[in-house]
Amino acid sequence: MTVGEAIRAAAEALAPESDTARLDAELLMAHLFGVTRSELLLRHMRDPSPPGFAALVERRAGHEPVAYITGRQEFYGLPFIVTPATLIPRGDSETLVAAALEAKPDAGRVLDLGTGSGALLLAVLAYLRQAHGVGIDRSPEAVAVAVRNAEQLGLRPQAMFREGDWLAPGWADDLGTFDLILCNPPYVESDAALDPQVRDFEPATALFAGPEGLDDYRVLIPQLRALMNPQALAVLEIGANQAEAVGALAAASGFATALRRDLAGRARALLLS
Ligand code: GLN
Repeated sequence: MTVGEAIRAAAEALAPESDTARLDAELLMAHLFGVTRSELLLRHMRDPSPPGFAALVERRAGHEPVAYITGRQEFYGLPFIVTPATLIPRGDSETLVAAALEAKPDAGRVLDLGTGSGALLLAVLAYLRQAHGVGIDRSPEAVAVAVRNAEQLGLRPQAMFREGDWLAPGWADDLGTFDLILCNPPYVESDAALDPQVRDFEPATALFAGPEGLDDYRVLIPQLRALMNPQALAVLEIGANQAEAVGALAAASGFATALRRDLAGRARALLLS
């Protein structure tokens, strides 16, 4: 069987489980060849299908996300390493990077709270070569992934990562202050019905935040001002129906807010200043 035929068969087999079956099949095949998807499509479609493809398709059929199978996910045009210790960076979250770059092109110090793979911080630092950043995560495994990403993106001199948990007293004592704060906290309601590829594979501690999904915002927002320079901006990711509730929490801490929507038109980021 050729690569082209194997991809077509896999796309059919995955269609009931995945909205992106054909893309999934192409990405898994490209991973096996160790090439990009476009190189695969240009050069390898008539090659014999390599052994091992069926096993990867089988894993995807069991709802395992493609990014955990390949260990890679592109975000803001940059290649990131991901493991099951980190949330897979979402296209929706690129809204935060775009908003931050537009509002704070001259930022000197950047903080990323709940950095995971480091995607938000490293995407911003890749464009703000004058800036330095600190990424915090309570998971030591996530911190290790973020460090690897900084290294492979050539951003190690601009970025440092360390363990920290904003629920623990004193966690921010020696951080100093920042011009820009990024944060994609857990914000999913604890009883939300999630897709099995999210629910069964991504880290629950990065997703869930109490019955209304607001627990982490309640703890974090009152602590932000002390971490911000006078003209600083904080960019928080929010769930599509949380703009009002998170906006109210921000107002209660004395912040002015502005909303940014993602490409699907859903409320996605709240800018606090
Ligand atoms: N947007 C993610 C999802 O719906 C949630 C990310 C988060 O909780 N920070 O799966």
